[in-house]
Amino acid sequence: MNPIGILGGTFDPVHNGHLRLAIEMREALGLSSVKLIPALYPPLRAAPGMDASRRLRMLEAAIEGENGLEVDARELQREGLSYTVDTLRSLREELGNTPICLIVGMDTFCHFDKWHQWKELPKLAHISVAHRPGSARPESGAVADLMTSRGVNDPAKLRERCAGHVIVQKIPALDISATRIRALLNAGKSIRYLVPDPVNEILKRGELHHA
Ligand code: ATP
Repeated sequence: MNPIGILGGTFDPVHNGHLRLAIEMREALGLSSVKLIPALYPPLRAAPGMDASRRLRMLEAAIEGENGLEVDARELQREGLSYTVDTLRSLREELGNTPICLIVGMDTFCHFDKWHQWKELPKLAHISVAHRPGSARPESGAVADLMTSRGVNDPAKLRERCAGHVIVQKIPALDISATRIRALLNAGKSIRYLVPDPVNEILKRGELHHA
């Protein structure tokens, strides 16, 4: 059974870096689809500047017509901090034995041991780490140990069990961040070609928001 990919984030706003990450990982790892899951309140960073319904609308506009990308709003419907472990538990209940691949950038993965109940996560999903040229790998400590003990190179292994492997996948870098997009918006500059046009339209219709 082909795995399902999960890409969580604040998506404040969604941009082409996120969308290419999802597509690169889907194609490299043979994922049947990737669910983009916006967080209501991310536990490890400041609350997003744009409200949840606007972030959700932009995500839906961004993926329209792209088979194999979906938006999943379950974290917006839950109260409190958006813990990935809760999201994976609810997905696991729905998906039975379908393999799940949690997609994270290497920058995010380096701090994986700070995530709530992080040791539970590999019991619920494979961890697929997108390695962009120039991003540092964990060299020692708990996250490096996790990579060594659970690491696989062959994406076919992800189909053999529903969780538990760590796979590092090289992807081309697109130097786009939501932080920069917010700064450009606040400075009244163009963000065209950094985000899909329908997202640009929604942003242009809205008020400036804080970086
Ligand atoms: P911010 O600038 O506000 O921190 P961001 O652009 O990093 O936001 P997030 O929503 O926090 O976006 O990121 C969600 C996930 O997408 C993370 O795992 C992050 O590593 C990854 N990601 C973000 N931008 C890129 C990019 N340009 N290329 C590949 N992965 C990315």
